[in-house]
Parts: sequence; C-alpha cells; structure tokens
Amino acid sequence: MEREGGGARAWLAGFLACFREAWGDRIPRERDFLFPDPRKGSACKRHNLFLRWVVRGGDGVDLGIWTVLGPRQLIVPVDTHMARLGKWLGLTSRHTVDGKMAEEITDAFRAVCPEDPVRFDFALTRIGILKACTVATRGTCGLCPLGPACSGGGT
Ligand code: SF4
Repeated sequence: MEREGGGARAWLAGFLACFREAWGDRIPRERDFLFPDPRKGSACKRHNLFLRWVVRGGDGVDLGIWTVLGPRQLIVPVDTHMARLGKWLGLTSRHTVDGKMAEEITDAFRAVCPEDPVRFDFALTRIGILKACTVATRGTCGLCPLGPACSGGGT
C-alpha cells in the first residue's frame, strides 16, 4: 500500500514534470533546483513548503487555498533545522537530507496526527530559525520543552 505522502510526491512529480516538458532546454542549469524530480530522491524542501502553505489551513499558520491534495497527504519540508531536530528527536535514522528522510519524519508525525502530520513543521523549525538552539545556547536544554525527548544537547 502506498504511503499517504505518496500522494504529494506523485502529484509534485507530475506538476514539476509539466514545467520540464514545456520549457525543456530553456530552463538554465543554474535553475535546475527549482524543478527537481521527487522520484529521484530529492527532499523537495521548497516545493513541500509551498504545498504546506497552500494546502493546510484553519490554524492561522497556512493559507489553505488549494484542494488538489489534503493535509494528510503532505510531506514535511525538511530544511537544516528540521533535519537536525528530526535526528535528535529520533524521528529519522538517516544522515542525508533527502526524500527518504522527509518521509521518515513525516511518518513519525503521522503516527501522532494522521490527519495533519505536517502541522508540527512550523513550531519545530522556528526553534532553529529563531536561534533558540545553537552552540551559544548550550546548557539551556533544561528550559527547552523538547528536552526530555531530545538527544541534541545544544550542539
Ligand atoms: S533540548 Fe536542547 S538541543 Fe534539544 S532542541 Fe532543545 S535546546 Fe536544542
């Protein structure tokens, strides 16, 4: 049986393929990163973040204006912050930031919230974006709500 996130991966693969087929060689090489193929292992961070913005809704974080997919089909957009926390919280065993890591982290979230696994993305990535967890904050893990579950130790 295909995972729920397979819906987003397949849809995104088709969506991006449309651009590649339409524009072909007119897409400059330095713009290749805008049109990755999720079936070849890319984490597709930007595209999964875009889908989160336009598909999720209702909690004031995202817009919820597209209905081509449902929230339960989304895949977590894995950036450097989510990859780091994903490893420390035991959500993924992978070291490489790729599509499999994104699926592992999404599956871990899905076990807690199958109807909206990506809902945790905003709150968790904010910890890194706001620099609340850096080498400089080492020693403050006791104040962090993730402390009991986190193996990071402020590194
Ligand atoms: S427990 Fe420490 S290492 Fe883990 S996220 Fe919080 S501040 Fe960072």
